Amino acid sequence: MKTSMGSGSTRIPLRQQVEELCEQSIGTCYQCGNCSSGCPMGPWMDALPNQLIRRLQLGLEDTTRFASPWVCASCFACGVRCPKGIDVPRVMEALRVVGLRSGEDHIGPHTIEKKRLSQLPQIALVAHMRKATG
Ligand code: SF4
Ligand code: SF4
Repeated sequence: MKTSMGSGSTRIPLRQQVEELCEQSIGTCYQCGNCSSGCPMGPWMDALPNQLIRRLQLGLEDTTRFASPWVCASCFACGVRCPKGIDVPRVMEALRVVGLRSGEDHIGPHTIEKKRLSQLPQIALVAHMRKATG
């Protein structure tokens, strides 16, 4: 059976992919918003953590297209605030992994201005390339 995450005819639903990767039950979220209210990166996100989870609950397959999982700083503030014990940072990580597996790169060295490239710390660049490219 073909179980491609990309173009296969039996593509695994995004929610299932995410749940398998992060080992969290998306369905237990009851949208209290605690995760989002404590997120330090919220102002820079295009969808807050609880909104991403709601999208997964609704089966919206384009949820990997949002920038939020890439903006997430993996600070774990959301996970410790969740009354349902959902490890939200792992959900964010799973969304990144699914995106990368489907061939979505979010940055390339050629997209950074040369001047800026020379100023950025190399270790930060390497770490970011690892995180944001397939
Ligand atoms: S882990 Fe990510 S989503 Fe959660 S509070 Fe921190 S920055 Fe926000
Ligand atoms: S804190 Fe937990 S239950 Fe509340 S919205 Fe976030 S993930 Fe859902």
